[in-house]
Amino acid sequence: MEETIKIYPSNWLYNAGVIGFLNSVKKIEQKDVEKYFVDNIISLPRNIFENLEIEKRYFSDSKKNNISSIVGKSLLYRNYINPSRPQDKSGFADFVKKLSKIKEQGQNYCGICSRNFSFLPEDVKELNKKWAEYGKSKAKRSQRSKPETNGFEVFFSNLQKYNVAHNNLIATSKGKFPNAFWNFNDSLSICPLCVFLIIHHHIPFENANTQNGQIFINAPSFKIMWHLNEYASEILSKRKSYQLREILGISFMELAQKVSVTLGAWSIMNIEMVIKSYNRDRLLFTAI
Ligand SMILES: [Zn+2]
Repeated sequence: MEETIKIYPSNWLYNAGVIGFLNSVKKIEQKDVEKYFVDNIISLPRNIFENLEIEKRYFSDSKKNNISSIVGKSLLYRNYINPSRPQDKSGFADFVKKLSKIKEQGQNYCGICSRNFSFLPEDVKELNKKWAEYGKSKAKRSQRSKPETNGFEVFFSNLQKYNVAHNNLIATSKGKFPNAFWNFNDSLSICPLCVFLIIHHHIPFENANTQNGQIFINAPSFKIMWHLNEYASEILSKRKSYQLREILGISFMELAQKVSVTLGAWSIMNIEMVIKSYNRDRLLFTAI
């Protein structure tokens, strides 16, 4: 039997990351992602992380294939990969592949998905080895810096706390501003899986533009979220000039009916719309 990771709905940021990731897998690797939906959760095959077209997804110049820039001054994921550390870019594909091996273990619970996913020590060791190799080839060329023996851990330590690298719009600056929302810490700890998934959270928003902002529909079921956001993107791509109130008032009645028919949902509960407003980068939440 195929080994899978179970993914449960959580907060809107995580959900948008998961939906965005599946969207990208459908578009780029052309997989039938709808077969991963089981009731309200996702049963994600572990080997999905081993076969992603990393270069095309994150480093190509073509707008069509590139999911988002994650290097240097990226608009959304600022310095996710620091350009002064080329080994991080080379190793990124190895990091993503290793996600197929993450285990739920230990006492470190992720501030985003609330699970205790982490890499096994031997996998961290292997990743450090890769980073040292990439560092070595670079060191040879420049004849100065020594390859780090814990290179992967250095890379990961910059991403392990929620910060501007994961969302330049709403995250905290590194090491500053303790915040009640984060239990008076300066940030949240995040697991390796969320470190990766979260760089896809903008995709459903960008697929659904209204006159007032970009929207994501959040719900307690991934299957419902998938279909609602797909439908929203479909109607919004037909007419770019929709006002938000039109979407809320008219089209979403239609949408609600369509979802009940296609999914057989008894009622639409706890569904909210997250709006990334164009007006001063505000985030709004509306129950629908
Ligand atoms: Zn997590």
